Amino acid sequence: MATATFRFHGELAEFLARERRGVAFDQACARAATVKHAIESLGVPHTEAGRLTVNGQPATLARIVREGDVIEVFPHEPADAATDDRPDFVADAHLGGLARMLRMLGFDTLYDNAIADREILELAARERRVILTRDRELLKCREVMHGCFVHARKPEVQLKEVVARYDLARRMRPFTLCLHCNLRLEAVERSVAKERVPERIALRYTEFMRCRGCEGIYWQGSHWERMREMLGVSLAIPIPAL
Ligand SMILES: [Zn+2]
Repeated sequence: MATATFRFHGELAEFLARERRGVAFDQACARAATVKHAIESLGVPHTEAGRLTVNGQPATLARIVREGDVIEVFPHEPADAATDDRPDFVADAHLGGLARMLRMLGFDTLYDNAIADREILELAARERRVILTRDRELLKCREVMHGCFVHARKPEVQLKEVVARYDLARRMRPFTLCLHCNLRLEAVERSVAKERVPERIALRYTEFMRCRGCEGIYWQGSHWERMREMLGVSLAIPIPAL
């Protein structure tokens, strides 16, 4: 056993027993435990650890815990995820509202209200998707590479968290995905859309998009404007038109 001193900063406190929040505390760790293993045994999924230091020096989750180590763990900063890649997501079965809003913003987000944890893990590994969940045990699974614990309960607030953590605001492509199928929409001629939308819509609008999955037709009508406004209010940023 090696006894180390731990301190978790910011929102990471939420994962800890009450008496360990906001303070440094000693913890005996299993022999040759890594920092990843040690923090997970304290309740903090490894996916939630951003920067960490051991004895004041930058360290990684793979560091072996040694007797007397002082380990400080910080939550992710938005800049941590600042790459040019647009992340794809898989949401757990409880995050339908969040998944729908991410799709509205154009982020590929798999969601099925009957999906099993095992399927989420497989999809995330195979398609390099970020797992979105409020289930910390799911994030502790060893095969999880990229995951995000969603703290809030309201979908609008959850969206704000995910947008901040993955720096999504500058990479959104609103209204480019089908909200039902998660497939990319394609522009179609009005003559094609006419077959599938009410006549007054076909007369009033000139631009239409179609999902090749469900064949649903989308246009920039009042429903679209309401979604745009709702997203803008939730994120406190203007949502660009198509
Ligand atoms: Zn569709």
